Amino acid sequence: SLYFDFCASTPLHPEVYDELMHSTKQIFANPSSVHDMGFEANLRVEEARERISVLLQVMPNEVIFTSGATESNNLAILGVVRAWAKKTGQIPHVLTTQVEHSSVYNCCKQLVAEGVEVTFLPVDRNGVVSVSTIEESMQPNTVLVSVMHVNNETGAIQPIQEIGKLLRNKPDIHFHVDGVQGFGKQSLLIEDIDLYTLSGHKIGGPKGIGLLIIKETVELAPLLYGGEQERGIRPGTTNVPGVLSMATAIELTLKNREETMRVLTTLHDLVYSKLVTIPEIIMNSALPPLSSPHIINFSYIGKGITSAILIGILAKQGIVVSSQSACSSKAKASRVLMAITNDEMISSSSIRLSLHESVSLKDAEYLLDSIEKMVNHVKTKNKFELL
Ligand code: PLP
Repeated sequence: SLYFDFCASTPLHPEVYDELMHSTKQIFANPSSVHDMGFEANLRVEEARERISVLLQVMPNEVIFTSGATESNNLAILGVVRAWAKKTGQIPHVLTTQVEHSSVYNCCKQLVAEGVEVTFLPVDRNGVVSVSTIEESMQPNTVLVSVMHVNNETGAIQPIQEIGKLLRNKPDIHFHVDGVQGFGKQSLLIEDIDLYTLSGHKIGGPKGIGLLIIKETVELAPLLYGGEQERGIRPGTTNVPGVLSMATAIELTLKNREETMRVLTTLHDLVYSKLVTIPEIIMNSALPPLSSPHIINFSYIGKGITSAILIGILAKQGIVVSSQSACSSKAKASRVLMAITNDEMISSSSIRLSLHESVSLKDAEYLLDSIEKMVNHVKTKNKFELL
């Protein structure tokens, strides 16, 4: 099969694999133990934290390891809101967008159910939120703005740096960014960001490890209660192999960023320029610089069939793609595309291609051939033959 679902997960980078295997076998002691072997494990974890902090230009104690981006997003949002509510006794207000990943969106929905005020801001046809709308939607009780860097379904790039500038003089409002899909593609300074989420398995690292940058000025309530690990913010025995491999994955991802983007841009331009010429294909991803080149989302609206059928036709040709994020693939129409297009047909017939630096031009050409075959297949059959 040819895999084009790199936003759902990436293969382990070979160097990360070596690190993971070696540390899983060799560094098995608990880093919180007070004996020498525990001390050694802790040293390695702290070295990894230090390396990451240098690469991300934050302080080492601002790096908190978690089980992945879902946990980091929940910790950032629930943590800030709960700490503020407890401190002030007032109802907090959160500003976010309609196109966030489900780990932010559903977390905010839960807050609404608990009586917190949340504004889900709309986006334009390119999937981008407007900075002035954010400014206009602020309230005296706004405690958090949560906006993702790069959208996992369409690749749309949000104006993170501008939002950061807007919030620079508002120390009472914390700014959280889900950086999962932007990291290693779009450069980003986290200077004006208070909370920043990353996931290991999206950048050539293993599953079950992620991090949340929590700037020193942020007051945050933990989600879990237990030991003193991660300054008590995230108790539980440290995932030592995960942490060490995550540090290596971050290092390699940043080191290779320019070359990766060069390859991705070439692949993107080849695929995008062909897809726009196919009748009844509607592009849901804008062109760079509004959108990141590793994600191309389109809908095929011929015959009004759904994503699942289109994906099935492509699968028969050995092509692996998805429609929405893996976390919400059971939903019919994509919530993200509904927010962008307000069109049920487009939102339920989408395909997300996500690319990687390991994809060859030949693979991309085979992908395009397969999509053309899919279109011809749909055209020559009646709707009931396809279902
Ligand atoms: N945020 C975004 C933008 C994502 O694409 C994903 C993965 O689908 C997540 C968060 C969740 O990541 P994890 O699998 O590490 O929980």
